[in-house]
Amino acid sequence: MSGIRYRIIRRRVKNPRLEIWGNEIRVILPGNMDPWKVIKENGPWLAKQIELVRRAVELSKRIELVPRTRRKFRSLVERAAREYAKELGVEVNRVFVRRIRSAWGSCSGKRNIVVSAMAQRLPERLIRYVVYHEVCHLLRWRHDREFEDLVRSKFPDCDYLDLQLQAYWIKLKEQEERGEC
Ligand SMILES: [Zn+2]
Repeated sequence: MSGIRYRIIRRRVKNPRLEIWGNEIRVILPGNMDPWKVIKENGPWLAKQIELVRRAVELSKRIELVPRTRRKFRSLVERAAREYAKELGVEVNRVFVRRIRSAWGSCSGKRNIVVSAMAQRLPERLIRYVVYHEVCHLLRWRHDREFEDLVRSKFPDCDYLDLQLQAYWIKLKEQEERGEC
C-alpha cells in the first residue's frame, strides 16, 4: 500500500460527505448521486486533504510501533485519564479500552471514556493526546473553537500529532492487511 485510495460508499444519508480514513478518502453518497459532482464541489478542501494524506503516507514509512503489553497500555490510559480529569476539574466515571476501529477514542454521556485497543502500540505522547481529547469532551461536547483552543493549550503541536495519528493508522492497517497483528 503506498498511494491514496478512494472509496465510494452509498448510504441512506441526506447529504453527501467526505471522510478521511488513514490513506483512504471516502465519498459517502445518498442514493444515486454522482460522486464527481461532490468531488468537484469540494475541490479546495479535498486538495488540502489529499496533501495531508500524502504527508501521512510518507510519515507512515518512517515511524515504528512501540512494543507495549496490553496491561501497561491499560494502566497508562487509566492514569492519564485520571490526571487530566483532575487538571481540568471534571469527573471521569469509567475508563475502558475496547476494540473500536472507527476512532482512537470516544466518550459517553455517562462520563465514560473509551480508548481504542488500536492505540496500544502508539508512542506514549500520542496516547496521552488521545486521552486528553476525550477528557476535554467532558467539558465541551462539540469540536468547536473553544474545544480546539483547550486541546491546543495543552498540545500546541496538535496539528502534527493529528498527522502522526493518521500515519500510525495507515501503518496499523498495513500490518493488519499483511496479517502481522
Ligand atoms: Zn472528539
